Amino acid sequence: MLYRLKKSGYQAYLVGGGVRDLLLGREPKDFDVATDATPEQVKAVFRNCRLIGRRFRLAHVRFGREIIEVATFRSADFGKAEQSANGMVLDDNLYGTIEEDALRRDFTINALYYNIADFSVIDYSTGMADLETGLLRLLGDPETRYREDPVRMLRAVRFAAKLGFNIEPATEAPIHHLGHLLEDIPPARLFEEVLKLFISGYAVSTFEKMRHYDLFAWLFPQTEEALSHEEHEFPLTLVLKGLENTDRRLAQEKPVTQAFLFAVLLWEPLRRMAEELERTQGLPPYAAIQQAAGLVIERQVQRVSIPRRFTTPMREIWGLQPRFHNTKGKRPARLLAHPRFRAAYDFLLLRAEAGEADPELATWWTRYQESQGLDPTGGNKPAAGRRRRRRRPRKRPAPK
Ligand code: ATP
Ligand code: MG
Repeated sequence: MLYRLKKSGYQAYLVGGGVRDLLLGREPKDFDVATDATPEQVKAVFRNCRLIGRRFRLAHVRFGREIIEVATFRSADFGKAEQSANGMVLDDNLYGTIEEDALRRDFTINALYYNIADFSVIDYSTGMADLETGLLRLLGDPETRYREDPVRMLRAVRFAAKLGFNIEPATEAPIHHLGHLLEDIPPARLFEEVLKLFISGYAVSTFEKMRHYDLFAWLFPQTEEALSHEEHEFPLTLVLKGLENTDRRLAQEKPVTQAFLFAVLLWEPLRRMAEELERTQGLPPYAAIQQAAGLVIERQVQRVSIPRRFTTPMREIWGLQPRFHNTKGKRPARLLAHPRFRAAYDFLLLRAEAGEADPELATWWTRYQESQGLDPTGGNKPAAGRRRRRRRPRKRPAPK
């Protein structure tokens, strides 16, 4: 791939997270290629190429099942780029030299270029040194860079948690007071980021850091509000245990259900609201949960969008919770046959573990499944293909 661009007379380098992870001796998730060829020129070299993106114009080159992202060197001269009133960069498609391209990247350790021609690494800043000392350092003036793209604050936290790096003081300081800038980011983009934050294998540490830097409240205001009531410990315990499970499952290469994760994150605001609706309007538990679910989700998606393919299972997981109290007659059998039983039962276990639900009730359901010849430890296994499995990160060979 890189050779082919070279043969056509272009420069081409591996860049970004792939190079960073290789140098750290970690398995790279994917590889990005940076080149001086324009997307159109890339397309002319590769037949199996598609041009994508509006914010960033990119070429996607397909190799069998792999897609490699090829980006043209961009200019860091934001003076010329279109900006919003907050200094956010709206149009970032000015092409430039490799050096300019390096300086418009986010962190020094993400701005290393691997030259396959001579196996050298090109470093225009302090990337190599920062990799050695384990330091996350933004290129340029941190506050300006966060204003250009506030998602960089989330990226700082994500990489710090994933790599176990420290955030360099000047890079760290502005984060505490710039969280509000995340309000300007489209909820759909934040949804993608939230998945990366929590389905990373480092969700617990990421979550704790996000709260430490006052970022979490901007993504999940209702959850943060519910967690701030200190009369109980279980709400925080539930979230931590839920994230711990996610991390453990990923470490074991098991699939993770995104809907379950969002159900965990939003359970406490939902539970509080449902309780209030029961109290003030005399609604029965199931109706209260459904009504509260509508409200909580509606508020949540103003910050971080959640696609309907997730909100539907979330509502089911929540809605089934009161039904676990019915352990008489034919009702348990009916609940067991529900397509979302598995996830709802796992959710009940989590609530019990956190100290919110009755552990004896959870045990009753465990025994009940055993008595029906089922294996209650089957985990989050999808019921006959109804649940979406997360696609495991594919192991990519280095592009040739
Ligand atoms: P991951 O392991 O999560 O893929 P990554 O560093 O490869 O980490 P990507 O989102 O794949 O992250 O981005 C690839 C590269 O593009 C980054 O390494 C960085 O150089 C650059 N980049 C990505 N997002 C930004 C941003 N918001 N601002 C500046 N540069 C960015
Ligand atoms: Mg990447």
